[in-house]
Order: sequence, then C-alpha cells, then structure tokens
Amino acid sequence: MLTLHYFSKILTNPNHPYFNYKQSRFLQRLQDARPSVVPSFFARAAGFLHDFNLETAQLLPNPVILLTPWIPHGLKFLNPFENYGKTNTASDIYLKLFTHHRELYHHFIPVFTDGSKSFTQTSFACVFINSTLSFQLHPSCSIFTAEIRAIFHSLSEISNYPADNYIIYSDSLSVLQALSSLHRHSHPLAFSILDLHDRLVCKGFSILLCWVPSHVGISGNEIADIAAKNASAVLDNSTPLKDFKHYIKLALHSRWENRWNSQSMNKLHSIKPVVTPWPILTNRKADTIVTRLRVGHTRYTHRHLLMGEQAPMCTQCNCIMSVLHILCECPNFNSLRLRYFQSSAISLTDLLGKTPHVHLLPFLKSIGFYPRI
Ligand SMILES: [Zn+2]
Repeated sequence: MLTLHYFSKILTNPNHPYFNYKQSRFLQRLQDARPSVVPSFFARAAGFLHDFNLETAQLLPNPVILLTPWIPHGLKFLNPFENYGKTNTASDIYLKLFTHHRELYHHFIPVFTDGSKSFTQTSFACVFINSTLSFQLHPSCSIFTAEIRAIFHSLSEISNYPADNYIIYSDSLSVLQALSSLHRHSHPLAFSILDLHDRLVCKGFSILLCWVPSHVGISGNEIADIAAKNASAVLDNSTPLKDFKHYIKLALHSRWENRWNSQSMNKLHSIKPVVTPWPILTNRKADTIVTRLRVGHTRYTHRHLLMGEQAPMCTQCNCIMSVLHILCECPNFNSLRLRYFQSSAISLTDLLGKTPHVHLLPFLKSIGFYPRI
C-alpha cells in the first residue's frame, strides 16, 4: 500500500525529480536475468498495478493553486429549496418550488447533471435540452468525483456554444458546497471548474449553479439519473489521487480479508473473523493480558520452549496446558466459570472477542492464572 501510495504521489507531481522516470533497458535486462536482484521501486510498483488491474488508471495532476488568502474563492450556488428539509417536504411541494424557480430563471438554459456509483462502475451524465451525454469513469473514482466531473463536462460542452445564459442543476449538495469555497486541499476538478467558469464569463457567458433534490420527479434530474446509471461509453481513465489511494486501500483490505477467511484452520480466526482494528483497553496491563490470551501465547504455556523444559500438563485431564484448555475446557474450573460467567460452557470468542467479558480478569485472578500470563 505504501509503495503504491508513494508511486501515485510521484505521478501527480510534475515537479518531482522522478516524474518522468523511465526504467533503463540495462536495469530491465539485469532484473530479468537475475531474479535474486531486488527489483527497482518502479518495477515493483508496476507489478502491483498489474496485480490490481490498475495499469490503465491515469492520475489527475495536482492543480496549480493560485489562491490569494485575502479573497474568498469559489462559485456560489442557488438553493430555492433551502428552507424545506427533505424529511418533511412532499415531492409535490418540491416540484411546485422548482416550477416557480424556473419561471424566475426562464431566460437561463437548463443543464442537469448527475453522477452514479455502483459496485462495478462509476459514471455521470449531462442532460441538455436537445441532447444527453453519459460516460463511464475509472472504477476507482468516487461518487463525489463523478458528480463534480459532470459539472465540469457540462461547462466544457457549454464552451462550444455561443455565449448565453446557462444554469447547471446538480443534486449533490456536497459538491456545490465544495465549489463555493475553495482551499488548498479542494478536489483538483474544482480548480478546473473555477478556471473554465472564469474564462466563459470573460467571453460573455452567464453561468449559475443550482441545487435540486433528487428522486422527487424533476424530469431533467430523473433523466440524468437514468442516463448516468446506463452510461456505456468510457470518457477517459483519469482519477484523482485521493480516490486512487482510497481504492487501493479497499482493494488490499478485501484481499487481506479473503486470505484470512481461507485460513479456517487457524485458531485465531474464530476469535477475530474480520480484519478490522479492535479498540484497545484503557488499562495497559489488562490490554497486554487480553492480547496474550487472544494470541494464545502466555508465559505459563510457552516458557518451556525457551527453557528447554517439558510442556506443562494438566494432571486432571492428562493433556498439554493451553489457553483454550484453561479458560474453556478444564473441568477443574467449572464451578468458578459458573460463578463468573453464569455458564460452564463458554467460548473463547465470548471471553476474548471485540469487547472482552467484563468478568474475565476477576476469573483469571481467582484461578491463579493472572500472574502467570
Ligand atoms: Zn484440565
């Protein structure tokens, strides 16, 4: 993950000394001839990209940011529905408000945009009065990127027409809010939109942005929604650095989980079936003890390996002592199990799962195991 993150960071920064790096033929021949030679960083990164099917992805370059701190930058947007919350407003009210809004802005040509993200594809659509455009983006793009790309693409299309008044409708409040106040960490396309908007204004265009609620029956928004979901043409494979990194992280996590799931014979799998971080206990001593029990390695059960001694045996059951035997199996402790856990048949998962059993430490103390962990 770190290799791919660093690699993608280099590719988005044209000022990086390795931005135009090409592996020399000599190095390639050396690596091919001697597999024992550690491949170069770029060869390793290329291998990972191939592994994750990401070779076609092209990273959006970092924007050239010329923001003056004393002037706010961004594009304001209209919101005729501002005082009508989505939970307690009927669709009919939204439609009437929109009709009223269109009467006020009838001299602005409407353009509707929408983005869509499913498990397999990311896409967007722009709906003009006489035409609808829809495209797929690289699957690593987020829904935010799809929505903002739709606005950028609408502006690019508008720039081909003669100067006029346009109003771009989007149902993504987060994108419109992000466009209204730009800062250093804004989405790269937000800067492209601001730049293109300013150039169009200089040419005599008047362009407004407006939020519309989705799924209330506003026809342009509905058409954009369906077109985005059914997009088949691929526009390009560009993706922002942030989305790319997030995609790699998810892909690696899912591989890790799959590999872990395949290890059904691993005794740790039943205790922790999902590979997410667990909260640490606030008491350091208790946290250490719970971790040792989860891993199944304690001083008492494993010191013989270091000391070259015999493994400790349970004299009653005539078996080798293990954390599982002491906590769950050995009938010697049944009465104490009943007292602390209200059951003599309790599993390791119940005792050592995400939230350890509240009576675990008192039980360990009462059976005398606590100081030997
Ligand atoms: Zn026993």
